Amino acid sequence: MKLSLIVPCYNEAENVAAFQEAVIGAFDGCGYDYEIVFVDDGSRDATLHNLKKLHAAQACPVKVISFSRNFGKEAALYAGLQHASGEYLSLIDADLQQRPEIVRDMVEILDQQPEYDVVAAYQDRRGEGKILSAFKKCFYSLINCLSKVKLHPDASDFRTFRRSVAESILSLGEYHRFSKGIFAWVGYSTSFLPYTAQARAAGTSKWNFRKLANYAIEGIIGFSTAPLRLATYLGCATALAAMVYLVVVVLQKLIAGIDIPGYATIIVLILLLGGMQLFCIGIIGEYVGKIFEQSKDRPIYIAKEVLDYEEK
Ligand code: UDP
Ligand code: MG
Repeated sequence: MKLSLIVPCYNEAENVAAFQEAVIGAFDGCGYDYEIVFVDDGSRDATLHNLKKLHAAQACPVKVISFSRNFGKEAALYAGLQHASGEYLSLIDADLQQRPEIVRDMVEILDQQPEYDVVAAYQDRRGEGKILSAFKKCFYSLINCLSKVKLHPDASDFRTFRRSVAESILSLGEYHRFSKGIFAWVGYSTSFLPYTAQARAAGTSKWNFRKLANYAIEGIIGFSTAPLRLATYLGCATALAAMVYLVVVVLQKLIAGIDIPGYATIIVLILLLGGMQLFCIGIIGEYVGKIFEQSKDRPIYIAKEVLDYEEK
């Protein structure tokens, strides 16, 4: 098998058949074999039903993995990688925002330029609002400053890569998966390809601001321990400021004879220090939570059904 298209699907009932059609159209006459690995991430609509129909028809080789509940896109991608048999593997969304034709171009790059192991598409124009765009910019500057791995700001997980890369990704068994970080962490030479995301074919995006913010925090916690050092820096800075203030107060009393009542100062300082301490405990708590969840060693997903196809 030359190429596996790994497609996470969560409530994509209206899209999966159109997606398969688009894939067949794009790869018609490409001269190599390919399979579609659909992962139903615990959809609550007719996605699984429609996927089973596609599997039964086998208009092209189709595998279906269905989860026992919604485990998230990252888990779906992991399952897809585990079940794909292609020499090249491609991660692509089910909503047709990412055209399958681009995957053909990616395969061509991997074929013709053996020095590259990954082709990552990045959005040349983002269709999102200014606030979200500014938020994303901040996030990338922050994570690139805090973490040793460097992320391309506009690159998503729409990528095609060689099997060796997939094996490396699968070898990272972490429970909290942040695929952009994982791609950067495993390395390999990457070619970046610009693309313009289409409008969603049907249905709605599963992301909102809160989910994105949580995902961003997950990314930073997962790929940097720098926030933990913040407590050390804050503590040092506060102690230093306290020393200076102490000297100032003593000198004022000795030289100028000023008695400082300081009620407001005390209240403000108590609140400020209390806030800083809670903030630092919160950061530590984030890491402890991740350690706790990882230490339980639960599987990344549970598949209730895997429908394979018969090799011809
Ligand atoms: N997805 C998934 N599990 C989830 C959320 C999303 O498998 O919990 C899939 C979804 O079906 C789609 C892809 O991930 O194929 C991207 O999701 P979406 O289109 O909502 O994200 P956006 O394009 O808005 O960033
Ligand atoms: Mg989408």
